[in-house]
Amino acid sequence: MSEISFTGTAFYEFLKEHKLMGSHCPHCGTVYAPPRPFCPTCMAADLEWVELSGAGKLASYSVIAIAPTAMLEAGYGRENLYCSGVVELAEGTRISAQILGVDVAHPENIVIGTPVKVAFIERGEGEARKTFLGFEVIA
Ligand SMILES: [Zn+2]
Repeated sequence: MSEISFTGTAFYEFLKEHKLMGSHCPHCGTVYAPPRPFCPTCMAADLEWVELSGAGKLASYSVIAIAPTAMLEAGYGRENLYCSGVVELAEGTRISAQILGVDVAHPENIVIGTPVKVAFIERGEGEARKTFLGFEVIA
C-alpha cells in the first residue's frame, strides 16, 4: 500500500472516499495522522498506510468567530460560529478538525474527553466539491 506517498494531497483523496487514513510504523507501532513519511520515534522510513477507526475523544477546542477564507466561503463567521478542535484518536495520534454537534453558542458546555467519531464534510458543487475532515459528538 505504500506506493502512494504520504502527502496532504493523498490524505484528502482518501477523505473523498470517506476513509480516514494515517501512516503506521511497522517497527515501533506508532500511528500518525495526518500521515508522516518517516517515523520520528524510531527513524524508520518504511511506513505503511493504515485506515483509522475514526473513533476518538475531544482533546482541545476553540469556537471560532474570525474564520479563515475557506470557512467564510462555507458560511461560517461572526454570525455562524463553528468549533475547531483537536481529537485524540483511538490509535493514539492527534489530529485537528472541525467538531460537529457541539453547542457553539455555549462553549462552556463543551467537555474535553467527549467521545467523537469521524465525519466527512462535503462542501462545494461539481468540480469544486471537496471533502473535509470533521468529527461529531457521539449522541
Ligand atoms: Zn517507528
